[in-house]
Amino acid sequence: MIQSTHKSHQLKAVGMISGGLDSILAAKIVKDLGVEVHGLFMKMPWGCCDQAHAQQAADSIGIPLIILQLDERYLETVRNPRHGRGTAMNPCVDCRVHMFRRAARYMEHIGADFVFTGEVVGQRMMSQKKQSMALIARQSGLEGRLLRPLCAGILEPTVMEEAGQIDRQRMMRITGRSRKPQYLLAKRYSVEGYSAPAGGCLLTDQKFSRRIKDVFEHGYRNFRETISLKWGRHYRLSPEFKCILGRNMDENMALIRYAHPDDIIMQLPDNHGPTLILKGINPSPQILATAAGILQHFSKHKGQASIAMKYWPVKQRNLVQPIQAQELSADDLNPMKV
Ligand code: SF4
Repeated sequence: MIQSTHKSHQLKAVGMISGGLDSILAAKIVKDLGVEVHGLFMKMPWGCCDQAHAQQAADSIGIPLIILQLDERYLETVRNPRHGRGTAMNPCVDCRVHMFRRAARYMEHIGADFVFTGEVVGQRMMSQKKQSMALIARQSGLEGRLLRPLCAGILEPTVMEEAGQIDRQRMMRITGRSRKPQYLLAKRYSVEGYSAPAGGCLLTDQKFSRRIKDVFEHGYRNFRETISLKWGRHYRLSPEFKCILGRNMDENMALIRYAHPDDIIMQLPDNHGPTLILKGINPSPQILATAAGILQHFSKHKGQASIAMKYWPVKQRNLVQPIQAQELSADDLNPMKV
């Protein structure tokens, strides 16, 4: 456990700000105690949390906010969790340990005294049971320095509470999944316009989980590869190659924006319809023909005689070449779907 330093200066804290109501309330409580609060937003590799909401929340509380990008180190935590997963690929306990470790480093970096969150005992099955919360504090290196103001009244006191630097009487005792106590508290603090409670983590989504599992099995080059997992249709052609097709103009453009320099872009001859991104290095003519067949299947030419698609490497836009599509039925496609 980190020992009390009995500082007499104004306390300084790092607050984990998601933009949801609980993190706003926690920050309000801590700020009301006269603590200097610095907000920290953890951005998922695939960017599923709303950074704009977090910024809005920080502005409304009147605190600075820094954005911390979770990268390949986070992906390794998701790939090999020590404490198991929830209903999908979500390794909630390990995820929290990873995030709090990084928060602890930021705390040390700016010379803050503690980290706080808007967590509530019993709100989440895996990571917010009393036992898990203690384990997470311990394994992240924040034991005694991790304050959960919404439920601190029923948790072991932190170093700051023991030293009388944080008034334990002003800590809440909220438990469970009901949101009523938070809504009452929001009224008391005149908090309005907050986003819905967090719950949109893509790792809890079965479809996204299938795709990230596929990426872990077949390899990825950097965390940006996982961004496109949330868009389009995904087909695995071989252990080395997979393709993604946009389902609308926005997805087509997003897929091109996040393509790797080694990827290939494929489109219909008249540019209408889906854009296909072929992932993998130096595809054979057979792989290109299969990708072209998938592209034709999702175009206005579905079921017609094979047509030639055009393709080019992301890094050589002027190297456009034709490839005749392989004729594929839905039955051929199904086993390849990710
Ligand atoms: S729901 Fe997602 S973000 Fe939240 S703790 Fe679990 S894995 Fe992490």
